[in-house]
Amino acid sequence: PSGGEPVVIVGTGLAGYNLAREFRKLDQSTPLLLITGDDGTLYSKPLLSASLAHGKTPQQLASASAEEMARELNAEILVHTHVTDIDAESKVLTLVPENGSHSAELRYRKLVLATGAGCRALPAIDGDGHSRLFRINSLGDYHRFRTAMVGRKRVLLLGAGLIGCEFANDLTQAGFAVQMVDPLDWPLASLLPEAAGRDIQRTLESHGVRFHGNARVTRLERSDSGIRAQLDNGECIEADIALAALGLQANTGLAEAAGLKVERGIAVDRQLRTSDAHIYALGDCAEVDGHLLYFVAPLMACARALAKTLAGTPTPVHYGAIPVAVKTTLRPTTVCPPRPGAEGSWHIDSAESGVRAEFRGADGRLLGFALTGAGIAARDQLTAECAPLMA
Ligand code: FAD
Repeated sequence: PSGGEPVVIVGTGLAGYNLAREFRKLDQSTPLLLITGDDGTLYSKPLLSASLAHGKTPQQLASASAEEMARELNAEILVHTHVTDIDAESKVLTLVPENGSHSAELRYRKLVLATGAGCRALPAIDGDGHSRLFRINSLGDYHRFRTAMVGRKRVLLLGAGLIGCEFANDLTQAGFAVQMVDPLDWPLASLLPEAAGRDIQRTLESHGVRFHGNARVTRLERSDSGIRAQLDNGECIEADIALAALGLQANTGLAEAAGLKVERGIAVDRQLRTSDAHIYALGDCAEVDGHLLYFVAPLMACARALAKTLAGTPTPVHYGAIPVAVKTTLRPTTVCPPRPGAEGSWHIDSAESGVRAEFRGADGRLLGFALTGAGIAARDQLTAECAPLMA
C-alpha cells in the first residue's frame, strides 16, 4: 500500500542502502525513509583498508551522495540525524538533528535497524599519546587519518587481525615503515592456522613490516616527532603515528534502550525479525540466528531476504559457506572460517608458493578452510564442498 507511515531504515551503510535498493526492486510506492548520523555518502567500506597505496581520496571512494541516493531510491533521507529512542509500542522514533534543531518524533510502519558496528573499546593504555592514535571505520575516519599522515613515515599498528593485516599491506605499499603489535602469536591468529598466518607474516616482513607477536602496548606517549609505545615484553617502539585495528562491536545501544533482545548483536531470527514484530535488523549490528558476521556477503543475503519480507512475502535468509578474500594483495588470501566451536582439526598443505589448510570434522566433512598464495586456486572447489553456516 502506498501513503501512510513509511518503512524506516536507520543507517545508510552497505546494509541500509542495499536493503533499500532490493526493496525498491519489489515495491516502488511504499514511502521509504532512511536516517543516518553521517552524511549518507554511499561507499564501499572494505576499500578503507586497501586505498592508501593508491592514494585514493575520500571523495574518490564515494560512489554516490545522499542526494543522489534519495533520487535513485525514491526515498527521503535524513542525514546528520541521530535516532536516540524507539517507542516500540506506539511505533515512534525520536530523532535529534546535529544542527541543534529540536528533537522530533516520527511514526513508522516497519522499522529496520542497520546501525553497523563501532570500533571495540581500547584496552587500557596509559600515556598522553592518544591524540596520535587513530581508528578507521568510516569515510570520515579515513579522511582524518590521511590528513594526519601528511609528512609522516612510521606507523605503529595495533592489531594484526583481518583489518590490521590489510592496513599493514596497504601502508607498506604506500611507502610507510610499519610495525605491528598483536597479543596473539601470529597474524590473523583467530582466523588462520599457524602455517597460513606465518605465511602472511613472512610476506609482510619481506616487504619491511615488523611484526611483534605475543605483545601488547601498555603505554603510548607523545614524543617530539611522534609517539613512543611501551610494550609489555619490555620493547619500546618509536613511530610518528598509530593506528588501532582491534576489532568491531555491534552498535546495539538503540535496540537495548528500546527493550529489544540483544546478545552480542541485536538478536534476530532468520527472517531478520527482532523481538518486536515490527522491527528488523541486518548488517554488522545484527546477530542472525546466533551468527554475528562483520562481512558484506552475509548482509547482502539478508538484504535480499528482508526486502521480500518487507514487500509482503516472508522470506528467511540462508547462509551458505562464506569465503572472505583478505585484501593482503602482497599475498592473496581467502578464509572461510569454521563456525566458532566447530569440532575438527586443520589439515595443512604448506609450500613456498602458498598454503592450503582445510578444517575437517572427525567424519571428514569440510567445515572451513584457509588459502594463501597459489593455494587460492582451490577456492571455488572448496567453497562448493564446504558445509553451509546455516544447516
Ligand atoms: P555501517 O557501514 O557501519 O553503517 C552503519 C550506519 O548506521 C551508518 O550510516 C551510521 O551513520 C548509522 N547509524 C548508527 N547508529 C545510528 C543512529 N543511532 N542514528 C542514526 N544513524 C545511525 N567485509 C568484507 O566482507 N570484506 C572485506 O574485505 C572487508 N573489509 C573491511 C575493511 C574495513 C577497514 C572495515 C572497517 C570493514 C571491512 N569489512 C569487510 C566489513 C564490512 O565493511 C561491513 O560488514 C559492512 O560495511 C557493514 O555495513 P553496515 O551497513 O552494517 O554498517
